[in-house]
Amino acid sequence: MATKNLALSQLSGEKTYTEIVFKQVWGKVEAYQSAHPQQKIFLMAFGDTTQPLPPTVVRALVDAANRLGDREAYTGYEDVTGNPELRQAICTNYYQKKLSIELEPSEVFISDGAQSALVNIQELFDLDNRVAVQNPTYPSFVEGTLLAGRPLINLPCHENNNFVPKLPSEKVDLIYLCFPNNPTGVVATRKQLQAFVDYARSHQAVIIFDAVYSEFITLPNIPRSIYEVEGAKECAIEIGSFSKMANFTGLRVGWCIIPDALTIKGTVPGELNHLWGIRHSIKFWGTANVAQHGAIAVLSELGQSECQKVVSYYLQNAGLLREGLEATGLKCFGGINSPFVWVKAPQGLSSWQFFDKMLQFSGIVGVPGCVFGSSGEGFLRLSALGQREDINIAIENLRCIPLKYEK
Ligand code: PLP
Repeated sequence: MATKNLALSQLSGEKTYTEIVFKQVWGKVEAYQSAHPQQKIFLMAFGDTTQPLPPTVVRALVDAANRLGDREAYTGYEDVTGNPELRQAICTNYYQKKLSIELEPSEVFISDGAQSALVNIQELFDLDNRVAVQNPTYPSFVEGTLLAGRPLINLPCHENNNFVPKLPSEKVDLIYLCFPNNPTGVVATRKQLQAFVDYARSHQAVIIFDAVYSEFITLPNIPRSIYEVEGAKECAIEIGSFSKMANFTGLRVGWCIIPDALTIKGTVPGELNHLWGIRHSIKFWGTANVAQHGAIAVLSELGQSECQKVVSYYLQNAGLLREGLEATGLKCFGGINSPFVWVKAPQGLSSWQFFDKMLQFSGIVGVPGCVFGSSGEGFLRLSALGQREDINIAIENLRCIPLKYEK
């Protein structure tokens, strides 16, 4: 007799981020739009990209598709850990040339974006491992942990610590860190990351570092990779993605670094890397070969300069949005090294009340901060990954917003 997965069914009923956004946020937008059909709506709720793929990438995709249509050039399954040329390009053109980090292609695993790797990586570890997450956080870290049935520990992030958490005060085994952060848009300094690496090494914990927005870092001296921090290869797994830096959200290519130097109790160097390869061959058979050729083009010299323009476009959007919000007196975080602006609710409004007011006075749709965790209460997340024209009109609308903080 088959029985249902209780951990999974307990997540249904608008308890997951996706259900909340698509039912509650979207439900409110539809209701508002039908009552106010003249009002223009600015969707800044989704972290999806909106700009076209860079031309170099498009050419590479077309060439790769044409090769698949040619009897002589056709290829089938790739190496399950990823196209060797792509893994080499990630080591050389990204980590070595841009960040001066030395990695071996065998330490790189290609995935279908970062999302699956970020959640699935927990399978490297025992079921009783305690998982620490930033609060507020990217929701999949929490949902993936609950789905697996692992104990969850929150690391509160507040305005007074610029949304970078303190070190865990209780025993934890795995620590998700995401910088630049979604939803708060903040970055962590080298010193702050070093403290986490030192903690992980002395407690035999592993950091799972989400570096999806690393290309958005504009400030010098802010690490783009956890491996810029001393000792990180011994205690950290890093997961990156082509999604936001190259508009690959639909193409689906990401990577996961499992350094040979990473060890935990009872393992020897290289063992975790080897085990992840086995898991790959059991549960994952590689991402689309055409998409991987697109990713190789992203890492070419021309691809890199075209992608820089993509990132600059989104960052300018974020800067304009933040300036427009601040001009009305609203307090903002993020939006400088990240496409997300994290706005503090005025007048003691809750996240949902602030969401309603924003929609009503400006037509801007964000995601209430409480959806990202209890410490996100009282904030609203806005995404600047949209079109410049929309951001400009939305800012004009903001001028008439009658929201002020209490003195
Ligand atoms: N991590 C963070 C922090 C994100 O914001 C996202 C997507 O929005 C992802 C991971 C997933 O990215 P991907 O498209 O590479 O799966």
